[in-house]
Amino acid sequence: MNLSYWEIKSWLTNVDYTIVGSGIVGLNCALRLKQRFPKANILILEKGTLPQGASTKNAGFACFGSLSEIIDDLKSHSEEEVFQLVQKRVNGLQLLRNTLGDSNINYQQFGGYELFSTSDDLLEECKAQNDYINSFLKPLFHQDVFRFKSNSFGFENCQDTLSVNQFEGQIDTGRMMMSLLQLVSNSGIKILNNITVEDVSEDSTSVKVKTHQFEFATSKLLIATNGFASALNISEVKPARAQVLITKPIKNLHIKGTFHLDQGYYYFRNIDDRILFGGGRNLDFKAEETTELSLTERIQNKLEALLKTTILPKTPFEIDHRWSGIMGVGKQKKPIVTQLSNHVYCGVRLGGMGIAIGSLVGKELADLV
Ligand SMILES: Cc1cc2nc3c(=O)[nH]c(=O)nc-3n(C[C@H](O)[C@H](O)[C@H](O)COP(=O)(O)OP(=O)(O)OC[C@H]3O[C@@H](n4cnc5c(N)ncnc54)[C@H](O)[C@@H]3O)c2cc1C
Repeated sequence: MNLSYWEIKSWLTNVDYTIVGSGIVGLNCALRLKQRFPKANILILEKGTLPQGASTKNAGFACFGSLSEIIDDLKSHSEEEVFQLVQKRVNGLQLLRNTLGDSNINYQQFGGYELFSTSDDLLEECKAQNDYINSFLKPLFHQDVFRFKSNSFGFENCQDTLSVNQFEGQIDTGRMMMSLLQLVSNSGIKILNNITVEDVSEDSTSVKVKTHQFEFATSKLLIATNGFASALNISEVKPARAQVLITKPIKNLHIKGTFHLDQGYYYFRNIDDRILFGGGRNLDFKAEETTELSLTERIQNKLEALLKTTILPKTPFEIDHRWSGIMGVGKQKKPIVTQLSNHVYCGVRLGGMGIAIGSLVGKELADLV
């Protein structure tokens, strides 16, 4: 790319902080850096025309873990670790709401529900653990989080009892990202889209950044590329594609809330009189370990079948649109927020909880420098 003197001088000279990735983490990191260093020259590089990871593709659940998920986490983590995970999600959601305002992200607390299969005994296990989990979470919520209710939504092929989480909410993902981008640009932070960072190298005072269009130097580099992190040598993060579909508007839709099915491998919610439905990665983990934003027949067919048999068994519907997004996962659920070398830092591996923890991870990343 043949840049002019002016372009180099105004965009790519004396850059204090460069952030790779304009998802929830990258944008929150930039805002926090600007708060700490108001005069700093901050640049965000984003490979997509729009942010192209998970932040504009997700389902918009403002959640912190379903009953079965928390029970399951307690099998592989200590009580303290699980408590800290949930606490982080709750604090992160509060930070997101405080930063952007509930009306700007259309935050609505319709409650979260978990459906249970008839082919296993997960419901029995959840019933047995419910009181324990409620008392475990009491220091955070000061009230019972989970209770059970009978299925009043007309779901079929599942148990007649649902677990309810009164504190779970939902947001409009598009509005959240538009508001964040607006805040960032109002703060004087520059974003360059359609720029892929290909390589970074470091000397004693700065980091040389090689993109597919140009090279420049920055004092500090902060990587917020989540599912794409391995391309910049952060090998602990694996990509995990998540596929979604949305129906056309449905008259008199009686389903309102966020819903978890099959231990969270499937999830659906109401939005604009439609059902947004995603999941099915467990049908083929290996094939979904990819950064390719495409769809597979196998998963899309399963989503449609579950809509017909379980979620909307008596309601005619049409599919309006389908898409996929890339999450960043790994052996542990905890995100990686760390210094990688003298001038390079990263905040990655957000898993399926980026709405809850993304703002906090962005802030923590900025606070590392
Ligand atoms: C379908 C789906 C549904 C989900 N549902 C929910 C949900 O309901 N609730 C919830 O809490 N979480 C959900 N998640 C997870 C959540 O969206 C993510 O955890 C969160 O968005 C991660 O934010 P991030 O900023 O870390 O990463 P991302 O949003 O992925 O941002 C990374 C950015 O880096 C850019 N990038 C990558 N490599 C480069 C490079 N080399 N150069 C320049 N730019 C680069 C990408 O284009 C991308 O924009 C879902 C995810 C998906 C995919």
